[in-house]
Amino acid sequence: MTGLVYKSTGSWYTVKTDFGDVYECRIKGKFRIKGIKSTNPIAVGDVVDFELETNNNQESGIIHNIHDRTNYIVRKSVNLSKQTHIISANIDQVFLMITINNPPTLTSFIDRFLVTANAYSIKTILLFNKIDVYDEETLNEVKYLAHIYRKIGYECIGVSAKSGKNVDKVKSLMSGKVSMFSGHSGVGKSTLLNYIEPTLNIKTKEISTQHMQGQHTTTFAEMFDLSFDAKIIDTPGIKGFGVVDMDKEEVGDYFPEFFKLKQDCKFNNCLHVKEPKCAVKKALDAGEIEFSRYRSYLQILEGEDEHYRTDTWEN
Ligand code: GDP
Ligand code: ZN
Repeated sequence: MTGLVYKSTGSWYTVKTDFGDVYECRIKGKFRIKGIKSTNPIAVGDVVDFELETNNNQESGIIHNIHDRTNYIVRKSVNLSKQTHIISANIDQVFLMITINNPPTLTSFIDRFLVTANAYSIKTILLFNKIDVYDEETLNEVKYLAHIYRKIGYECIGVSAKSGKNVDKVKSLMSGKVSMFSGHSGVGKSTLLNYIEPTLNIKTKEISTQHMQGQHTTTFAEMFDLSFDAKIIDTPGIKGFGVVDMDKEEVGDYFPEFFKLKQDCKFNNCLHVKEPKCAVKKALDAGEIEFSRYRSYLQILEGEDEHYRTDTWEN
């Protein structure tokens, strides 16, 4: 039988088949996935093959195969250095929720987020929330940011989780897909999800740091079916997710507007900093590349963004 992992406790996996049957499954023996060193071999979002067995009249499943992943996100384990924990797999898209104020979302945070999502091969859609309370000046800022990110290929939607403005657009994008919601604390993730699906009552709030401290706490993601053929993965308590280890030469590849120009740079390993005949610098000077994007690029390149690194995938 084949099914999708909805929940995991570390030793048990809740797996749902295409027919909607739910089984509690385990892994038998050692289970390793080539090239991935993680504390958990199977994560929420994985597609697995399993066989049923009956013990004391209880039916449960034994997972013997895992299907190839399209992507997965990890976070570094706090206690076991060098080990990573796979948060979830096979994510179709992430909605990055952004507010201009209360709380402010900086472009450096957005850009770092997009680089990480690109490195993980996860499509990102930008949601500018709380447009119901913005004055004209703030709305212009939303428009300007949306213009910047649309130009480089990202879908941007102004929404209000409170009034429901444009939430239908978000729902239609979610339909038939597995989505995650991300962004700073207070941007309106819970409000939006509760507007979309009031009966679900999702609490995306982090577990208090006090509670987490000094414990070997591993919180696991969970997948939920929504009423309109959409799935979401909720990741309670997971604040930052892993820094993607990147070579300097790689960073520019995750800025789509830089990547497009790369072949026109004189040097094929151009870092777009001081090299002569650099197509990216030329486009920057011509105003075709946004300065804030280039600034974020330099920050990532120089490793000046440690603060954002730890917060990349905040919930
Ligand atoms: P989360 O931490 O991202 O889950 O944010 P919450 O959903 O808890 O929202 C934080 C605060 O912002 C709450 O007081 C919400 O009522 C408020 N809020 C969320 N979305 C909107 C919105 O679209 N408009 C307005 N005016 N307030 C909102
Ligand atoms: Zn260059």
